[in-house]
Amino acid sequence: MKRFDFIKSELLELKKEDLFRTMRTIENSDGPRVTIEGKELINFCSNNYLGLADHPKVIDRAITILRKYGVGAGASRLVSGNFDIHEQLETAIAEYEGTEAAIVFPTGYMANLGVIQAMVGHEDAVIVDRLNHASIIDGARLSGAKLLVYGHNYMEKLEKVLKKKAVGCRRKLIVSDFIFSMDGDIALAEEMLHLARKYDAMLMLDVAHSTGVVDLILPEGHNIILMGTLSKAIGALGGFVAGSQSLIDYLRNKARAFIYTTALPPAIAAAALASFEIISKDNSLQKKLWSNVEYLRKKLEPLKFDTIGSETQIIPLMIGDTKTTLDISQFLFDHGIFLSAIRPPTVPKDTSRLRLTVTAMHTKSDIDHLVSKLAEAKEEYLG
Ligand code: PMP
Repeated sequence: MKRFDFIKSELLELKKEDLFRTMRTIENSDGPRVTIEGKELINFCSNNYLGLADHPKVIDRAITILRKYGVGAGASRLVSGNFDIHEQLETAIAEYEGTEAAIVFPTGYMANLGVIQAMVGHEDAVIVDRLNHASIIDGARLSGAKLLVYGHNYMEKLEKVLKKKAVGCRRKLIVSDFIFSMDGDIALAEEMLHLARKYDAMLMLDVAHSTGVVDLILPEGHNIILMGTLSKAIGALGGFVAGSQSLIDYLRNKARAFIYTTALPPAIAAAALASFEIISKDNSLQKKLWSNVEYLRKKLEPLKFDTIGSETQIIPLMIGDTKTTLDISQFLFDHGIFLSAIRPPTVPKDTSRLRLTVTAMHTKSDIDHLVSKLAEAKEEYLG
């Protein structure tokens, strides 16, 4: 069995470096509370930022459509899996994002693969922030375009890349997370748009963590490709691209991750549609989220954790050492808090962290409990 020996040795290597991944199993879930190993914990690492995954109207809509259309879509959208609910969802996304049209993919990961692979190829350049999400990097690799990386939010470097390294390429596509998924800071969208126009490049923003969380205000006629997900604040599953009608027609014809896969289950599309209806009518969940973000930030201040410039609901507590990060995560688990350790390769080497996310569902007393346990953990592990 020599051919498979590498599996054992690579697993051993991961274990030695504290990088072996296992999963906690959720046995019950009720808003921000989860049961794991028979124990109730407060979840501080979910992307269900507005609590819409648990919203009664969202659940009811999914059940109604589940009964009407069944579970699976049965085929890809272009064959026989295109339901009215998919098209209604795409209209709602376009309205929400202020674009002419939108297209839905089965996941955000696939939306990134699909759109990047369709927009650029071997003769082109894709220019990415160093801290972009893995799905953007994978899409860029899949496209075969020249992959050019600039320092995180470092606009002078982006300009240098556009000016020097991307010259001679047929098309240029700049891609960035809008809210950075592991860092919680925000891309400099206006500067990026300015540079994109100056150097005749296309700009794409991944709004996975900002949809439903912040209202993106972009200049009239911006032509930015907006890619997002339905799996975070929207509380369902699926990815999307929003933009001009011609862009969406193009993706329907060219994006392989759209064409060659079964459509999103109609009941999930219905749940996402219900979420957009809720957040379009009423911003109370968004307000509650931001009031929790501010409350948590204030409470955290005296503990002096390094939150690496985070400005949003994603608050990384930078630890650095992987083993210490795992130990703190376990300590919190033992004290009723679910907060996973984030380790390389998800984040760069020596930047293991606790990626804290607060949601609209948390109460002030949930947050107080978290902060008091973080204070204890800091004393115990970081002295
Ligand atoms: N982009 C970003 C910035 C993300 O954080 C994620 C999910 N972690 C994705 C894309 C992929 O989205 P999905 O989970 O819907 O596949």
